[in-house]
Amino acid sequence: MTGEANKCPHLSIVVPAYNEAANLPTSIAVLLEQTRPLCGKVEIVVVNDGSRDDTAQVLDQLALQYPEVVPVHFSRNFGKEAALEAGLERAAGDAVLFIDADMQHPPSLIPEMIDAWAKGADVVNARKRDRGKEHALYGMASRLFYRLFAKAAGVNFQGASDYKLLDSQVIEAVKACQEKARFFRGLVAWVGFRQTDVLFDVQPRAAGESTWSTYGLVKYSLRNLISFSSLPLTSIAIAGFIMAGLSLVLCVETLFRYLMGKSLSGFTTVIVFQTVFSAVILLAIGVLAIYVARLYEEQKGRPLYLVRNQRLQRPERRSTSECSTVRN
Ligand code: UDP
Ligand code: MG
Repeated sequence: MTGEANKCPHLSIVVPAYNEAANLPTSIAVLLEQTRPLCGKVEIVVVNDGSRDDTAQVLDQLALQYPEVVPVHFSRNFGKEAALEAGLERAAGDAVLFIDADMQHPPSLIPEMIDAWAKGADVVNARKRDRGKEHALYGMASRLFYRLFAKAAGVNFQGASDYKLLDSQVIEAVKACQEKARFFRGLVAWVGFRQTDVLFDVQPRAAGESTWSTYGLVKYSLRNLISFSSLPLTSIAIAGFIMAGLSLVLCVETLFRYLMGKSLSGFTTVIVFQTVFSAVILLAIGVLAIYVARLYEEQKGRPLYLVRNQRLQRPERRSTSECSTVRN
């Protein structure tokens, strides 16, 4: 083993893959090319997240071709967070690298990341310097979300990505977080340890299309905010205090006018009062309902994902009719 290969004695790579048949052969080859010279042992856990294309076949073929490839097939599409979790649970390395299958996370950064880990960092976060080609509105929305999230959960996600290298003790720490609504980026930020950043420019997808729709992104962002912070819940109490203060002022004013014989005529005050309060009450019930739904989901205790074992293609057994055919 050379000195360079000692940088990381055992590296695990986790690759979530949904409809990535066109990308996997190149991605795996590039990953091996980048890591083999630096690591004593490499394993690549590729999680096929219930793909609808030929990912399953391509992945099994790659596992035959490269002994480093460990294929995991989900029984259906459970989402990227579940795929990352499945990979994390199977990764046995001293350090674990998480990278997308579509090469939007440039693999050329891997030596720098391994170097940072070898020098003592427990978490190496690849942060986006430039967010790649995206709509201006989308960029604004994501910045707003990250700012909100930073306030609510106390962790800075600006430019954060799932492209990370984690030490095995950080992997244990993330595994110890029991929640079902996983948010990998959030959990890694929350566990702490010695974190360092490297910057990268988002590359265009090598092939295929991103699976995110605007609706999907909004749902994902809200889910993460709810699962990570109770700020929306406590803001109900704050809204309650504000409304109570306002209604006190209004009551005093109305009573004062009444006593002075100058009470307001008409329904304006009543209507404004009624509408604003009804809206706030409904909103508060809505926020409570979202948290109750989350509790309900968590307590069900269902597995985060299910794995389907690829059945080996056994040589076909001859059926009775076939036997009789042979005999004839
Ligand atoms: N992915 C997954 N399950 C999904 C959707 C995506 O495992 O349900 C994987 C996908 O194969 C890729 C990574 O997650 O490796 C990022 O997905 P995508 O490129 O669609 O997202 P974007 O880069 O636009 O954030
Ligand atoms: Mg992508």
